[in-house]
Amino acid sequence: MIIDFANLTKAYQEHKENIDRAINDVVSTSRFIMGEEVKQLETLLEEYTGAKYAISCSSGTDALLLGMMALDVEPGDEIITSPFTFIATAETIAFLGAIPVFVDIDESTYNIDVNRIEEKITKRTKVIMPVSLYGQVADMDEINELGRKYKITVIEDAAQSFGATYKGKKSCNLSSIGCTSFFPAKPLGCFGDGGALFTNDEQLSDKIKSMRVHGQTQRYFHKYIGMGGRLDTIQAAVLLEKLKHYENDVKRRQDVAKQYDQNLKDIVITPFIKEDNTSVWAQYSIRVKNRDNIQAILKEKGIPTAVHYPKPLHLQECFEYLKYKKGDFPISEKVSDEIMSLPMNPYVTDQEINYITKQIKSLL
Ligand SMILES: *Cc1c(COP(=O)(O)O)cnc(C)c1O
Repeated sequence: MIIDFANLTKAYQEHKENIDRAINDVVSTSRFIMGEEVKQLETLLEEYTGAKYAISCSSGTDALLLGMMALDVEPGDEIITSPFTFIATAETIAFLGAIPVFVDIDESTYNIDVNRIEEKITKRTKVIMPVSLYGQVADMDEINELGRKYKITVIEDAAQSFGATYKGKKSCNLSSIGCTSFFPAKPLGCFGDGGALFTNDEQLSDKIKSMRVHGQTQRYFHKYIGMGGRLDTIQAAVLLEKLKHYENDVKRRQDVAKQYDQNLKDIVITPFIKEDNTSVWAQYSIRVKNRDNIQAILKEKGIPTAVHYPKPLHLQECFEYLKYKKGDFPISEKVSDEIMSLPMNPYVTDQEINYITKQIKSLL
């Protein structure tokens, strides 16, 4: 048996006719930039998340950048975030000259530990940026409360959690700004790079929309320093098709996770989802000792695995200048050594799940 980690080809084959037609419609009208589909998608994204404004953009990374630019994040500003995440979370902070201030994670959810945030708040703290890792939303109520108390804006890095719920509300609509990604391997993926921002603040939405097109207010008149950050019409057309069956995809992901849970919970540390949360399972990640060995053997058996993420951000070479050292965030460091993601997508079959879990059990 050879198993596919993300099954992107199957996802296309399953809806090929509709997707091909949608792409063709864009190509034949040549409305490649800000065509009708972009607006249509934004309206559906607003309906789906409940956020008043959805602004599509060129990637999840650019969504984070645009969000911080719209808040006038400046060199020297401090932004509190997790060290256990994809590089883009902190890279965009540093790119704007601001300072990533890391706070260790909670060992059960792998999201930022809300009990350790307050001690890191200073006069220069401009934003708290929790990451809703692996598809589960961070503790947004507590984080928003801190934001209110200290007048700090909260941006949810929801790149992995589009569609997840927290106390009945959708991820992306839980703070001043939510940012998501439509990178192909994310729960809702397009056929290239794509992303979106969400807010309920009209002024902020207008500013982000302007900054997405070089800060212009009308063509060739520029109010802000912005960027070329639009979503391609073709990607919007693909997403419009994929949104139609997204709820089903999420249900199947949840079903896959449940089966993994049942088969593995007694032998490894399986993911913990809080009672108030539903996850969209961007990753299904377990923890094992001796990970390299297990990965190698599974690979031989046709089972691909991945590590999200092998090195926490405070220990990355690019952040040496921040002067963090090993031992600063022990939980992130420990989890980085043990975490391992299993194939997770709506097209993993029950048979594959049984095969994968049987092989893992035989190794432990
Ligand atoms: C994927 C991801 C991003 C960046 O999204 P892109 O669309 O790849 O630019 C940012 N943050 C997190 C947590 C991610 O997983």
